[in-house]
Amino acid sequence: MRIRGGSGFVGRELTHLLRSKGHEVTVISRQPGPGKITWSDLKSKGLPPCEGAVNLSGENLMNPLRWWNESYKKDLFSSRIDTTKALSEAIAAAACPPHCWVLVSGVACYKPSLTAEYTEDSEWTPFDFLSKLVKEWEAAALLPQSVAKTTRQVIVRPGAVLGRDGGAMKQMLLPFWLGLGGTLGSGRQPFPWIHVSDLAGIIAHALEAPVDSAALPPPQVYNGVAPALNTNYEFTKELGRLMRRPTIFPVPAFAMNALIGSERAVILTEGQRVVPQRTLESGFQYQYPDLTSALKQILGS
Ligand code: NDP
Repeated sequence: MRIRGGSGFVGRELTHLLRSKGHEVTVISRQPGPGKITWSDLKSKGLPPCEGAVNLSGENLMNPLRWWNESYKKDLFSSRIDTTKALSEAIAAAACPPHCWVLVSGVACYKPSLTAEYTEDSEWTPFDFLSKLVKEWEAAALLPQSVAKTTRQVIVRPGAVLGRDGGAMKQMLLPFWLGLGGTLGSGRQPFPWIHVSDLAGIIAHALEAPVDSAALPPPQVYNGVAPALNTNYEFTKELGRLMRRPTIFPVPAFAMNALIGSERAVILTEGQRVVPQRTLESGFQYQYPDLTSALKQILGS
């Protein structure tokens, strides 16, 4: 398997899982190293023969060291769209293309709502910065018809990925330990989430699924979220309860907007009720389907 972005939070978990299942994994990275090929190797030598390819690359959307400005927004686009295009072009040009090509995008394509529920089949059109990003990102992954006949195209749309070693939890644990945790915005907004092990599991499940020629060529979408539908309030209270810390300091939406920019604050202050309908129908078994089991594993309690 070839994984672009395999050195990141989700990529490390996926690499570990695939190796434990006996797969050989090569990471495609900006940095050379053992078990890796670089972006320029891919460009000059093409995609080495492999059964599956995954793109997990992208400048961190919640990078606390970067101000929300045009240069950051440009990097968010190019680090996703250019890498996705490069990998899909390498797949299309390969003498022996992989059986499966997985792009991991996000649920930001679905319009935030307190009531609407979205499955993989829900129609959507871009309405803001992040949904435009998802649109272009997913379009960049599309393979030409000739290759799409042999390579299954899959898109996994994760919610907030929860795990100890990265993502949102890494930034949240300290304020919660200090007793400074609280709901964000109204707290009533949905909080679509998934445990990092389950996201890696869904990607592996997609990679290992038998080729179903009836399902080719449009990309098969899997919502990468836990089946439990939680709000930000429920998440905050459960995390506080398990950490035995108070969660009495709500952060109003205007403060989040001022702190990290309104275009990305929407991820936290608004949310979507996302249902993993096709993921469940495909037979995927979650290890952490509910918040309590996921947070207990992450907190080690
Ligand atoms: P990470 O932030 O851990 O980064 C993934 C990898 O992307 C890095 O290891 C790096 O690989 C590569 N990368 C980082 N910046 C750039 C850049 N400017 N240009 C090119 N490559 C870059 O991501 P996660 O593992 O958390 O997420 C994986 C994917 O899933 C991302 O595309 C993310 O947008 C998406 N996602 C993540 C969510 C989350 O909560 N974590 C939620 C929803 C979607 P290297 O240095 O080896 O090149």
